[in-house]
Amino acid sequence: MRIIVDEARCEGYGFCAEAAPHLLELDDEGELTVLAEQVPEDERANAEAAVRVCPVAALKLAP
Ligand code: SF4
Repeated sequence: MRIIVDEARCEGYGFCAEAAPHLLELDDEGELTVLAEQVPEDERANAEAAVRVCPVAALKLAP
């Protein structure tokens, strides 16, 4: 499973990075980086939480 970021939508709120700090990181300029190309099994719930908390629906999960 991978996390896909729609960069045009992302507003840099960072809620996703709080929900999944091992998977997503927001830098000081509000640029979001996906830290893990593949989501490890034990991070799956955090990845799903990150998708849920994004207020602008900029994240989705792909197989
Ligand atoms: S919560 Fe959504 S808008 Fe905010 S940094 Fe994450 S992907 Fe971007």
